[in-house]
Amino acid sequence: MTFDQLGLAEPILRAVLEHGYTTPTPIQAQAIPIVLNGGDLLGGAQTGTGKTAGFTLPLLHRLMAQPAVRDARGRVPVRGLILTPTRELAAQVEESVRTYGKYSKLTSMVMFGGVGMQPQVDKLRRGVDILVATPGRLLDHHQQGTLDLSKVEIFVLDEADRMLDMGFIHDIRKVLAVLPQAKQSLLFSATFSDEIKALAERLLNKPSLVEV
Ligand code: AMP
Repeated sequence: MTFDQLGLAEPILRAVLEHGYTTPTPIQAQAIPIVLNGGDLLGGAQTGTGKTAGFTLPLLHRLMAQPAVRDARGRVPVRGLILTPTRELAAQVEESVRTYGKYSKLTSMVMFGGVGMQPQVDKLRRGVDILVATPGRLLDHHQQGTLDLSKVEIFVLDEADRMLDMGFIHDIRKVLAVLPQAKQSLLFSATFSDEIKALAERLLNKPSLVEV
């Protein structure tokens, strides 16, 4: 199996090959076709399996394939939302989005707490296609009215088990409550406790299960 057999758009494929990847990892080979097809996904995968590209590549493809509806000022809404448990992971994931999306016209932004709100507000105001965030700061912006999540088309919950371990369940529930009902959702977790299963049940619609 090679990357060019997965059906990814040429600008994404070019960035992947340029990055030095030739063969998709097992999670990528299984997850990418499902996500490209618009399906929800429950992914059992640890860090190190290549799961980040597994969700980032098809997310970029789907957003590229469907042009954004811009607002009156010509700005794009947030259409791809990726939630991660930590700042470090958020920064890494956004770096991947940038790397693989370098030949797309999509814009991305990372958002986490512990730094000033205003630079984030300014950046959001200019319009962002893909937002990678930790839950607390995301909710701060939403409550403050500086972030519109009503146009999210694809939602990724990364490292869901770590999120719960870190006590983010209430924040996650709040985020789910403000996202549109009609969206594509992906949930990744290294372990599947009853709590994760309940969360998956609540979030995912007829998901495909991929475990590596
Ligand atoms: P992740 O599990 O997403 O954190 O990725 C783990 C590591 O594998 C990262 O350093 C990636 O750059 C690398 N990686 C991801 N996909 C591939 C691939 N298809 N071929 C080679 N390396 C990869």
